[in-house]
Amino acid sequence: MELIKEFANLIGAAVGVTRPLADMGIMPRDYQIGTTGVSLRAKTVFVFGASGAPHFVYGIRDCGTIVAVNTDREAPIFENCDYCIVADLFDILKALIKELRGGGK
Ligand SMILES: Cc1cc2nc3c(=O)[nH]c(=O)nc-3n(C[C@H](O)[C@H](O)[C@H](O)COP(=O)(O)OP(=O)(O)OC[C@H]3O[C@@H](n4cnc5c(N)ncnc54)[C@H](O)[C@@H]3O)c2cc1C
Repeated sequence: MELIKEFANLIGAAVGVTRPLADMGIMPRDYQIGTTGVSLRAKTVFVFGASGAPHFVYGIRDCGTIVAVNTDREAPIFENCDYCIVADLFDILKALIKELRGGGK
């Protein structure tokens, strides 16, 4: 979550989680996205390491551009996004943060 929060800060985004993370107390329940959580209307949403279960996808159905990062190229989230990145979320987040901090050149 530290890298997620750092990236979100850099782009001025809010952070939400899937139900298992709320269940674990990693973020408060108010931040859970999905049928039993909140629905988003963001212009752009980055989904890092969520499988794309229907209960979760429901919460991002009204978003504009959806970018998903998952190590599993068969993950259902890739059926429900505009950009698919098959990669480790930690590698992608570190690269994005480096680029946004001006150190990517
Ligand atoms: C009645 C009911 C209501 C529910 N309501 C909600 C709800 O509101 N919101 C919700 O989210 N869920 C809800 N659920 C649960 C939902 O069905 C899923 O179980 C849940 O969304 C799965 O969460 P997840 O994607 O975080 O976990 P998982 O399904 O375990 O997926 C984890 C994903 O992360 C990927 N991954 C792992 N490590 C990495 C890495 N290093 N880099 C990149 N990718 C990686 C894996 O490939 C996998 O695809 C509900 C379920 C029920 C029965």
